[in-house]
Amino acid sequence: MNTIYLALEVTPEELQGAIEAIRSLKFLGANLTIPHKEKVIPFLDEVSSLAQKCGSVNTIINHGGKLRGETTDGPGFIRSLKEEVGITPKGKRVFLIGAGGAARAVAFALAEAKADIYLTNRTAKKGKKLVSDLKNFYPQNTVAYIPFSEKSDALRREKIDILINATSVGLKTEEELFRPEDLTGRLVVCDLIYNRKTLLLQSAQKLGLKTINGLGMLVHQGALSFQLWTGKTAPIKTMFAAIREI
Ligand code: NDP
Repeated sequence: MNTIYLALEVTPEELQGAIEAIRSLKFLGANLTIPHKEKVIPFLDEVSSLAQKCGSVNTIINHGGKLRGETTDGPGFIRSLKEEVGITPKGKRVFLIGAGGAARAVAFALAEAKADIYLTNRTAKKGKKLVSDLKNFYPQNTVAYIPFSEKSDALRREKIDILINATSVGLKTEEELFRPEDLTGRLVVCDLIYNRKTLLLQSAQKLGLKTINGLGMLVHQGALSFQLWTGKTAPIKTMFAAIREI
C-alpha cells in the first residue's frame, strides 16, 4: 500500500490545530493516545455510540473532510479474548480490577457485549463512578461495585468466569493483586499489561488456567483502526511478529 503511519507528538495546546490538519492534509485518519482521548471529542464531526458512551476516542477516520471518532481499545480486548482463548463475553461473569482509561474502555466494550460486570478499584470513588456510568448506559445489565478489600472473596462468591487486571499493578514492580490460592479452577485470567508476564499471569499459568496478556488488545485495537481507515483486513500475524520482535 502507498501509505505510511507516522508518530507525531502533539501537545494539549496543539490538539485542535492537529485535528484540523487531518482535514487539510487529507490524512486517512489518526490514532490518539493519552492525554488526548477525551479532549478531542468536541473537535470531531461525529462520534460512534461506544466512543460517546465511554467518553474516549482512540481512532479518527477522515471521510472526505468529515471526521468520525471511534474507540477500538475495548473492542480490541474483546477480539483478543475470542482469538486467543475462544471466549465471547455474553453472559459471562467478569471481574474487572481498575477504573483508569484502560479499565473504562474494556468495561464499556464488555457491557456492550452483554457480560455481567463486577468492578473494584483501589480508589473507591473512581470505581463507583465507572459503575454508575455503566449502569446509566446499560440499565438492563448486571453491574456491581465490589469493595477493594473484598476482591479475593468476591472471586468465589460471585462465581467469576473472567478476571481482568486493568490496573498498572505489576507493570514495573513485583506486586501481587491476588494470592495464587485466591484463583479458582475455572477462571480465565487476563492482564492488560503487555510488556512483561506479571506475577498474576505467572500464578494463573502455574495453576493451568487460561491466560491472556495485553499484547492481543494492543495489536487488535491497531488492526481494527487499520480496517476502519483502509477497508482492508489487517495482517494480524505480521503485526504480532513485529511487536514480539520489538
Ligand atoms: P490509569 O493511570 O488511567 O489507571 C491506573 C489504574 O491502576 C487505576 O485504576 C489505579 O487505581 C490502579 N492502580 C495503580 N497503582 C495501583 C496499586 N498499587 N494498587 C491498586 N491499584 C493501582 O492507567 P491506564 O488505565 O491507562 O492503564 C492501566 C494499565 O493498562 C497499564 O498497566 C497499561 O500498561 C495497561 N494498558 C494496556 C493497553 C493494551 O492495549 N493492552 C492499553 C492501555 C493501557 P487508582 O484509581 O486507585 O489510582
